[in-house]
Amino acid sequence: MTAPIDYGRFFLPGPTEVRPEILEAMVRPIIGHRGKDMEELLSGMDVALRALFRTDRPVYVSTSSATGFMEAAITNLSRRRMLCLVGGAFGARFHKIADMCGRPADVLAAEWGTPHTPEMLGEALMAEPGKYDLVTVVHSETSTGVLNPVAELAAVVRDHEDVLIAVDGVTSVGGVRVEFDDWDLDFLLTGSQKALALPPGLALAVASERALERAGQIPARSYYFDLLEFERRAGGFQTTNTPAVSLFYALEVQLERIREEGLENRWDRHSRMAERTWDWVADLADRTGKPFSVLAPEGYRSPTVTSISLPAGLSGPGIVGAAVERGYTLAAGYGKLKPSTIRIGHMGDHTLAELEAILSVLDEVIDELLTQRDVI
Ligand SMILES: *Cc1c(COP(=O)(O)O)cnc(C)c1O
Repeated sequence: MTAPIDYGRFFLPGPTEVRPEILEAMVRPIIGHRGKDMEELLSGMDVALRALFRTDRPVYVSTSSATGFMEAAITNLSRRRMLCLVGGAFGARFHKIADMCGRPADVLAAEWGTPHTPEMLGEALMAEPGKYDLVTVVHSETSTGVLNPVAELAAVVRDHEDVLIAVDGVTSVGGVRVEFDDWDLDFLLTGSQKALALPPGLALAVASERALERAGQIPARSYYFDLLEFERRAGGFQTTNTPAVSLFYALEVQLERIREEGLENRWDRHSRMAERTWDWVADLADRTGKPFSVLAPEGYRSPTVTSISLPAGLSGPGIVGAAVERGYTLAAGYGKLKPSTIRIGHMGDHTLAELEAILSVLDEVIDELLTQRDVI
């Protein structure tokens, strides 16, 4: 047997901590995926899944990581040329996928740590009307902690006939308000192991009628990630291929837990954890007289993940290593931000009390490192 786990100490911005009752759900016996049992499992989750994505459309569940549905967006939704909004590593991933799949794509870049504004997008689409037929955007950019104003970006896209918007909601769905129907989105995807606090291995997505119409015009839209096949199977409470059924058991339990908490309460809990983290950063800067700061500007900060810029002389991996020695896990920066930032994933099923515990550990760790080093 493995040692009992201390919950509330694992703050990576994905994968996130999974509660024991969810892990325990996965020991149920395997069922055949073309039988009545699977149909009942899927139809039983239908209402809760639509509620999670705030939509009347069916929710597709894929046995893949979230990147699988990012690839589906790229191969199913653009016939001509797409515009990828890139302000961090996951925005860049959409563009990279387009490249690898041989689909024409341009980048609309924002400096890492800054959002994409509706004005920027409006200008880019106006510059050459008809050039693009798809915009990709990451709602909560996990590499920087920026929350993009997706509702407003979608409104800009809706001014352009024939342009679709695909949204990566991997660290937003379940942690931040995101409204598929009200915001009139075309594709919204997430993965199991982030704000939903499930084990890794599932991707979830919703597609609009417009999106399906577009997919129908693209013969080479992928086999495993054919959105028309997901739509057809979802209608009959079926999966496309053999699903990771144990993960579906976990999903069923988590959807019930989310229903009990209330989705809006879940969003509030995330906001409170985020605000506490931002206040802590401000206090830390005051207390030490050093330039600690939240990377994302006010008004564009993700409620699920905070990226904290460090004063010169402190390193992300150094702080992370010292926290691990005290039994707490968080992340250094992502990609080019690795040395100069740390990231706290206050996401999933974490509580404010658990967050307080890691923040006081970080106070200790940082104080200790500051006495050892010359920090500007
Ligand atoms: C983690 C993450 C992904 C990739 O998810 P995988 O499940 O690893 O494929 C994509 N986008 C964002 C914003 C993420 O945080």
